[in-house]
Amino acid sequence: MENDLRECILCEHRCGVDRLAGDLGVCRMSTPIVASRTLHPAPPESYTIFVAGCNFKCLGCQNWTISQFPDNRMAVEGYVDSGSLARESVRMIQSSAGILMGADRIFFSGGEPTIHLPFIEKIVDNARRLRPKLKVNFDTNGFMTEKSLHRVLGFTTSLTFDIKAFYDDTMRAISGTPVGPILRNAEIVARTASDKLWEYRIVAIPEVNEEDIEPLCSFLASISKKLPVAFLAFRPNYVLDEHHGATRELMQKCVELARGAGLRNVTYAGMTNIPGKKGILVEEVEGVYERAGATLAASYARSKGCTTHPRNCGECPSMSKCPLKKYIPIRSC
Ligand code: SF4
Ligand code: SF4
Repeated sequence: MENDLRECILCEHRCGVDRLAGDLGVCRMSTPIVASRTLHPAPPESYTIFVAGCNFKCLGCQNWTISQFPDNRMAVEGYVDSGSLARESVRMIQSSAGILMGADRIFFSGGEPTIHLPFIEKIVDNARRLRPKLKVNFDTNGFMTEKSLHRVLGFTTSLTFDIKAFYDDTMRAISGTPVGPILRNAEIVARTASDKLWEYRIVAIPEVNEEDIEPLCSFLASISKKLPVAFLAFRPNYVLDEHHGATRELMQKCVELARGAGLRNVTYAGMTNIPGKKGILVEEVEGVYERAGATLAASYARSKGCTTHPRNCGECPSMSKCPLKKYIPIRSC
């Protein structure tokens, strides 16, 4: 852990900062903080540990209280040592409530667990000393370096992998990061570790990433038509708090597009038809992004304080005082 955090290049932001000395990179986290942990009934059923902080600033983040810590100053639990977490996880999975639920693994989520990878490796090591065949799920935005990805694949038994866009401008507008490393890592997983892939998760955001769905599905289908894909309906949240939710028709269209691209293992889930604005346009970002969906997302970001467009949190002069990280939504659905 010492070495990884002394010159941190765990993810593709490659900040190179000494987190142990208190220097902060894009994720703004020094040492690991656990935000919450609980038995969780959503498949794969698990004891889920949510770690605080994230290397993305996704406009529609549903876990924004956790992901944008510490800047938003929302309450989190704090540091818990890896040995205690391992013992607690195994105890909860083996408890009558865990057995009744069918929990069979530790599920690391956040925020983004990659930014705390050495800590997670320690938890897994300790837990497997108590229960050698314990399963582990890693829930990720896919922005880790190849080296970190191989570390993750070394211990995880299942992977839930978010892909937010196919086009770079859409991805930057939604998350403040380039899309290249995510598609690269998605392909590495598909080609070398598809047995560990629980599913790719794609949040369908109306008017924002609709144009990305078909090429993204074609990209995945060109690797393997068997890859599991789950579409999740966007619900108004965080910086997109005023935007409208995904409709049922949009979700059905996503499934049709995926099947049309050749994918055979496709589902959708989530609450639909939550009302909101149909979209806004902030002139300042007009012409900066190629696609209308990216321009719309960037308009929301600009209207709530994001100054750098195209969004690029890794090289943004406002990174250490990012106004979006402090944004408190008027509604979270
Ligand atoms: S954003 Fe990534 S590279 Fe930068 S400090 Fe955080 S984990 Fe390390
Ligand atoms: S202000 Fe800078 S750091 Fe904040 S979201 Fe925008 S691009 Fe990212």
